[in-house]
Amino acid sequence: AKEAGKNGLRFFDPAMQAAVEERVALENDLRQGLRDNQFRLFCQPQVDAQGKLCGGEVLIRWQHPVRGLVMPNHFIPLAEQTDLIIPIGEWVLRRTCETLVEWERHPSLKQISLSVNISVNQIRADDFVERVLSIVNDCGTNPARLMLELTESLMAEDVEGIIFKMNALRENGVRFSVDDFGTGYSSLSYLKRFPLAELKIDQSFVKEIPENQNDAVITEIIIALARQLGLAVLAEGVETMDQFNFLLRNGCGYFQGYLFGKPCAIEFFSSNFANLMAA
Ligand code: C2E
Ligand code: CA
Ligand code: CA
Ligand code: CA
Repeated sequence: AKEAGKNGLRFFDPAMQAAVEERVALENDLRQGLRDNQFRLFCQPQVDAQGKLCGGEVLIRWQHPVRGLVMPNHFIPLAEQTDLIIPIGEWVLRRTCETLVEWERHPSLKQISLSVNISVNQIRADDFVERVLSIVNDCGTNPARLMLELTESLMAEDVEGIIFKMNALRENGVRFSVDDFGTGYSSLSYLKRFPLAELKIDQSFVKEIPENQNDAVITEIIIALARQLGLAVLAEGVETMDQFNFLLRNGCGYFQGYLFGKPCAIEFFSSNFANLMAA
């Protein structure tokens, strides 16, 4: 790297320069997107062992005037690096809380919980607890309907500080789920110190069950672990009946994946998934 710096090739590498320019353009577009209200909420159904609708995961999309519908993997990482994730995350939470209030009026939707993805940078902010509670209060949302999804990487951070914030929200009724469980490096001894309600088995383990012996064993162990700790366990990325049956047989309680429904604009959630409500 030193050599490249000396002869200047690195600086004038056109591919790298283009990447830097695209990053700057994307960041400017993200700021504009916030101002112009270009973000959209999608929602994917979550079902119980009877296949009945019990929740949904809120997933952000970006409706850009030129780029089209941009998926989160293309802008959330940059948002996290630039702290734009703070206003974007607050927007997601507010819209979710407003949706939950609207759903209170629907007999078939009022029991449903919504899960929201929270970045580590968000919970790191000193005023995270106050911000979440003020949004919940502003909207008049029942906090028991709100689940916050955190990833395992969080458990390697300021553990005491994070547990303190989680407890403060938990005492107000908000629940927590560990997203992508099994892909990080969480210490199992730490797991029971966090006030958790749910583990979400990462879709990479679900993908090849039941054929892949390793994945089958890992999945069985995560389900057993969750049950032992008194936590709900949800499998993500369920696409086939074979996967669903294997998970059911092994005691998994909740499911999410294309087998039940793909994410759709949250406005169409109830009409799109009416079939799961009747189940
Ligand atoms: P995630 O939290 O692990 O979300 C699950 C992803 O799996 C979603 O992708 C969903 O559309 C996809 N998926 C669901 N079921 C299936 C299936 O059966 N098969 C396959 N192949 N995929 C399935 P999506 O919507 O593109 O989101 C990607 C990631 O972006 C999310 O991963 C999450 O980490 C992040 N993300 C999404 N919305 C937000 C947000 O509001 N805030 C933050 N901080 N991150 C978000
Ligand atoms: Ca998630
Ligand atoms: Ca996940
Ligand atoms: Ca993921």
